[in-house]
Amino acid sequence: MARKILITSGKGGVGKTTISANIGTRLAKMGYSVLIIDGDLALNNLDIVMGMENKVVYDISDITYGKCRAKQAVITDYYNPNLNILPSSKGVRALGLSNLALDGIMHDLDKNYDYILIDSPAGIDNAFAKVVGLAKEAIVVTTPHISAIRDADKMCSVLRSVGITDIKIVVNRVRGDLVVSGESISVDFISDFFRLPIIGVVPEDDEINNQLLLGGDVHVSTPAYVSFGKIAKSVSTGKVDIYDCTKRYRGLMGSIRRKLRKVI
Ligand code: ADP
Ligand code: MG
Repeated sequence: MARKILITSGKGGVGKTTISANIGTRLAKMGYSVLIIDGDLALNNLDIVMGMENKVVYDISDITYGKCRAKQAVITDYYNPNLNILPSSKGVRALGLSNLALDGIMHDLDKNYDYILIDSPAGIDNAFAKVVGLAKEAIVVTTPHISAIRDADKMCSVLRSVGITDIKIVVNRVRGDLVVSGESISVDFISDFFRLPIIGVVPEDDEINNQLLLGGDVHVSTPAYVSFGKIAKSVSTGKVDIYDCTKRYRGLMGSIRRKLRKVI
């Protein structure tokens, strides 16, 4: 049976899809068989972000309309046979999917994977209600901005109210230079605020999208790439090793980098 993890957030646009795709990619690289479900049922995104758009033949709603079996709608990454996604629909059709239908899809796919990650839609409305029941645990993504942190906290309450108590936090888009200069909220502050385990910190990284298009098969170790490796290990082993976004910006060289980052 697969571990089923919902990747969600309170505020939209904080990086759920990016985090789902990268954690999934890295778990697959570690040898686990992984399925990422695009839970944004009517606004397909995951296939595009992961460079698999051209492979899509069927989507999640085709399964319930009887056009294909669940297995047929799953597509496999060009580079890594362990990495699979179940694409969502390009239109509102998928919003009509019943919880029962989604449970059935999950039941059919469950036994084939070690991990099923569900990339959640934004918000806590109807679309979210449809996918939340598929998971047994959750990773809540926030950025170090007060509005995102507060909304993430509300999401944790929503998750508890539906019986998901295994909740972990990932902090995305951390600017180490701003943390060192005191202009950004620190990870310690966020950790005290949530009183939930933080299993990863992802730095702000302009190259974050390029890596995914290569199925994680990159030969450069950008800061985000390193951080996702650590998060995937935390997920699989339970041993947390958080990427230190401030390291590059401490000391003499660090202060030069901080000044450069401000002018570039
Ligand atoms: P969500 O799924 O929560 O709506 P996305 O994963 O689509 O958010 O991310 C929103 C935007 O932020 C995308 O353009 C993505 O490339 C960018 N982004 C996400 N995380 C980072 C990061 N750590 N560094 C730089 N850009 C990021
Ligand atoms: Mg998304």
